[in-house]
Amino acid sequence: MMKPDGPLLSSLSVELPPESNFRDQNRRDTDSATGHSKLTTGEIRETIEKARALGAEKITLLGEGPVAEPYLTDLLDCIRTLEMKAELSTCGSDITTNTARRLLDREVDIILAEPGRPGFDTALGHLLDAGYPTPAASLAVHETVSRNNMDELSALWQRARKNRITPIFEVRPPAGEDLDSSLPDPASIHALFTDLARFDEREYGIHWLPCPPVPGPSIPSFLLSPVLTPTGDIHPLKGVEISLGNIRKTALKNILKDSEVLENLSRWRLKIKGPCRTCEHFDPCFGSRALAWRITGDYMASDPTCWRNMDKNDRITYLPVPADRIIPQKSPMRLVSRLLVVKERYAEVEAVVDENSPFARADGNIEDAALFEMMAQAAAAMNGFEELDTGLPPHRGALLGGKNITLKGTGGIGETLRIKLTKKASFGSFGVIGATVESGRTLLAAGDIKVFKESL
Ligand code: SF4
Repeated sequence: MMKPDGPLLSSLSVELPPESNFRDQNRRDTDSATGHSKLTTGEIRETIEKARALGAEKITLLGEGPVAEPYLTDLLDCIRTLEMKAELSTCGSDITTNTARRLLDREVDIILAEPGRPGFDTALGHLLDAGYPTPAASLAVHETVSRNNMDELSALWQRARKNRITPIFEVRPPAGEDLDSSLPDPASIHALFTDLARFDEREYGIHWLPCPPVPGPSIPSFLLSPVLTPTGDIHPLKGVEISLGNIRKTALKNILKDSEVLENLSRWRLKIKGPCRTCEHFDPCFGSRALAWRITGDYMASDPTCWRNMDKNDRITYLPVPADRIIPQKSPMRLVSRLLVVKERYAEVEAVVDENSPFARADGNIEDAALFEMMAQAAAAMNGFEELDTGLPPHRGALLGGKNITLKGTGGIGETLRIKLTKKASFGSFGVIGATVESGRTLLAAGDIKVFKESL
């Protein structure tokens, strides 16, 4: 993926809730995964207005519903009134020549998704009949590269080019859990991308370097934009489902300004880990962040699906990461065993105290002081992971102390404990991290730890 440098928010993608939400404003559909109610059109409009105030020039509406719904027209008009470019990603199930003309009148860029589904050709025909594409309103077809459609993609690409349609083929994590059965192997992706690049060069004089996860001369902006989800969460990128915050609780400006994930992504030349760093195409390619996150658990990992990393998989870091790779403490003083999860200013670390530890007591429990030490080592693990195999300069860190530490229980020898960390504040080289130690659902300790960090 070619990552442009630029403003924090140049565009925003909006995943539209089902249209039923908008037909009945008293209805509050709930997302089954999060339990949160879905956004109303009013909340979406307000967020779009705020995005505009923050500098966004383009809004991409990612919708699965019909395009002729009044709420969609209202949103497109709102975007236009704010002098922003509107882009609509749609299956186009109800596109007629008239609806296509209305979209063209509003200069809406169209991304027509799922070329394999019934009705796609009809929708495409209506868009072409209406006059798409024009210099003011582009037309693209969007297809996911999967094992099942590899043989059809070259023909689809050629057909798109012939009709002046932009082909957007994306290697991305499938919606379900099963990566292995749908994701093509790196060698096949390489062969496809090379074939498409040769075709473009030969037939159209368009030159581009094959890099994952999207073939072509540029990456569409909606794949590089923060995403507003149907329940109001902001994700950093499409496919990286880490919540940076929720617009119902925190102002969009503050979500974007305070996000460490966004900061890390913007400093990708320094912060991407592993073999991509030594790739000759590292700048401007930074691989697929969505695939790196889905496969390794780390959105800053090297892309494991890139063919140039095929023989370097042992150099890619996968979560969970053993603590001995990321903290200086040695056994038996090392209490934490693995870093499990990394999210927005948040991490989870695992600890198991064995019977040989100096923190093991004769009664089968562990010393109370071990819980505070676990918090400190977990914070060191979170920090060590951020710097592991990156371009960041070495540093030294120190624990300055704890605040409001409360002990509510005792951990047992051999028990698997979980330390949850939330970065609460930072002031230059100083930071405050909220920490809990839990055994299953039982809270054993909670409090804040203060840390200091400086470059060597
Ligand atoms: S190895 Fe990494 S930087 Fe190089 S082309 Fe592949 S994904 Fe891009």
